Amino acid sequence: MVRLENVSKYYADFLAVDGVTLEIREGETVALIGSSGSGKTTILKCINALITRSSGEISVFDKPLDEWDPVELRRKMGYVIQDVGLFPHYTIEKNISLIPELLGWEHSDIQTRVDILLERIHIPGSMKKRYPSALSGGQKQRVGLARALAADPPIILMDEPFGALDPIIRADMQREFLALEGLQGKSIVLVTHDMNEAAILADRICLLDKGVIQQTGTLKELLFKPANEFVQRFLDPQRDSLEMRAVRIKDIMPFIPQELRSRILITEASVADVPSELIPEIRKYYFINRDSILVNFRTDEI
Ligand code: ADP
Ligand code: MG
Repeated sequence: MVRLENVSKYYADFLAVDGVTLEIREGETVALIGSSGSGKTTILKCINALITRSSGEISVFDKPLDEWDPVELRRKMGYVIQDVGLFPHYTIEKNISLIPELLGWEHSDIQTRVDILLERIHIPGSMKKRYPSALSGGQKQRVGLARALAADPPIILMDEPFGALDPIIRADMQREFLALEGLQGKSIVLVTHDMNEAAILADRICLLDKGVIQQTGTLKELLFKPANEFVQRFLDPQRDSLEMRAVRIKDIMPFIPQELRSRILITEASVADVPSELIPEIRKYYFINRDSILVNFRTDEI
């Protein structure tokens, strides 16, 4: 879907992105993670052709970025800007309509689309004439998402979409994000500096430091097969909770007594997400057998 081949970006003589090679496959969510200044936003902007890379190749749907008509490219990619980035002097409705208008949709089609999206993001239609300043942080974030989804693009780029929210709302929004109709099946690049967020939302994680990819892989791979010491250290502060996120119920099934097993239906869920009535029991078997479970992870093909 999106392929970056040895992409670098200089700002004057400062190398912000250094030889990044990355592929975002159809329907997957890839988290770009790294501390502030590691080049995440720059990579997103290069993918979206908001800025021009200094070297390397980017292709979208197997077509080099430079060969894309800019308006056509906008139709393929929704962009959720860091710090929401709604236009303060436009109403909610107008903010969501921007790309469809750019694409020359009929007015009535745009109206219909806005109403559908507002419903999906749980914002009453009566609020569509409001300005962003009259919305809560969570509502603004959802409008930013609706704007990116307006033309139903197959690719969504999101720059710290939950960054401005307080932790409780953020957790709610992350849950909504996973369930949101309209995001299913899309290829998503999610920029975040929060490893837990990446672990919850992404299929694969690409960890950056100073513009250089340190490792791209699943949460399991980063946890149990770290490419270098940087990766290891980056995950260390949250290692326990990340492990519980990486381990799925099916991984501990062999250690669970038969009578409990029959009550467990969702074996794909991570231990961190076990249904509340099963939490004490599942966690007990997880903690008792943790060493053997994790040894498997370190040695398995993962
Ligand atoms: P992140 O999104 O990971 O925080 P950015 O991609 O925004 O990082 O920035 C990467 C580096 O490039 C930072 O050191 C930042 O200061 C620098 N940078 C970003 N934009 C510009 C710019 N327009 N001009 C000069 N330097 C920039
Ligand atoms: Mg950024």
